[in-house]
Amino acid sequence: MDTRMKHLYQELIIDHNKNPRNFRVMEEFSHESVGNNPLCGDKMILYLKINDENIIEDISFIGDGCAISKASSSMMTTAIKGKSIAQARALFKDFHDMSTGKLDIAEHPHQLGKLAIFAGVRDLPARVKCATLAWHTLDAALKGEQEITTE
Ligand code: ZN
Repeated sequence: MDTRMKHLYQELIIDHNKNPRNFRVMEEFSHESVGNNPLCGDKMILYLKINDENIIEDISFIGDGCAISKASSSMMTTAIKGKSIAQARALFKDFHDMSTGKLDIAEHPHQLGKLAIFAGVRDLPARVKCATLAWHTLDAALKGEQEITTE
């Protein structure tokens, strides 16, 4: 990671951890899933409200975990809100490939925007699960699975 990316990473992690976006229980949701990362102790419940046109109208989460999992969850919700299911799945794939080192975002086009700050976690295997928990929980919710664990 270059210095500019490192600063942006630290800033965004601190900001989203202190003030997570879409951090609330949703009363009327269409999809819900519980995500667990026992390795670190990260837990979340993700709520989605998907309309008839397959657009994710609303998304929120609650839970507790480390700064990376919380910031990643918060940033995931802001990236996904208003997107179609197909767009959300495409983002999940790019994020997953980036964090596991399959996608080199410096060389290949991607749609990740600010989410690209998590590229550095691929060098920190224990942190990959923290950064991807929210995305695996999203994937599970879209598949109608009630619960996922990173183990
Ligand atoms: Zn964690």
